[in-house]
Amino acid sequence: MIGIFGGTFDPVHYGHLRSALEVKDIYGLTEVRLIPCAQPPHREQPVATPPMRLHMLELAIKDQPGLVIDTRELNRDGASYMVDTLISLRQEFKDEPLMLFIGSDAFNYLKTWHQWQHLFDFAHIIVMTRPGFEIHNIDDFFKARLASGISELAQCAAGKLYFQQITQLDISATAIRSIIAKQQNPGFLLPDSVIAYIRQHKLYQRH
Ligand code: ATP
Repeated sequence: MIGIFGGTFDPVHYGHLRSALEVKDIYGLTEVRLIPCAQPPHREQPVATPPMRLHMLELAIKDQPGLVIDTRELNRDGASYMVDTLISLRQEFKDEPLMLFIGSDAFNYLKTWHQWQHLFDFAHIIVMTRPGFEIHNIDDFFKARLASGISELAQCAAGKLYFQQITQLDISATAIRSIIAKQQNPGFLLPDSVIAYIRQHKLYQRH
């Protein structure tokens, strides 16, 4: 089973990294693919450039076997639609279960994603609890896809929805950018190697 963890990673932080590692172990995944988006369709454009966000991810997952970076969205033109990413992953991993991990904040606006219903044609969606974001609106479409347990997810390649409790880390890239802009110390929210890179390139200095 392959995990898919998309994000802006502007910058990558322990909220992402701990979640990715934890779900890898919980689900016994072969790997978790961290997929930085080029142009997020649903939000303001990232502050750091794609090569910078990629470099910060590389620094962050160094020495973490099982976490891998997948650059297919950076190599594609136009908006980074997750459905396109899943279609291309499905061509590579023919019958293997694909697990798309998203935080509860992302789940709450999943219905604004391009062709959101079709995400379930190519992957399972696992919603990770995130502090400050209660899940609302589990309607009939979602209820019909709810898996009763983790074992059910291994039995088919796509199509199920599952909610996963993970260690709650109230860390966001927005808060980190704001801490840096206020000349405060973002230590212990993200890896030191990433902090050093941010300092070196004077990233996120302005609000
Ligand atoms: P920003 O504050 O800039 O919006 P972010 O911290 O939410 O960024 P993203 O790169 O947008 O980070 O998030 C990518 C994915 O990781 C999303 O599915 C999001 O829900 C999830 N995620 C981010 N931070 C956490 C966290 N602390 N705990 C669990 N999931 C998280």
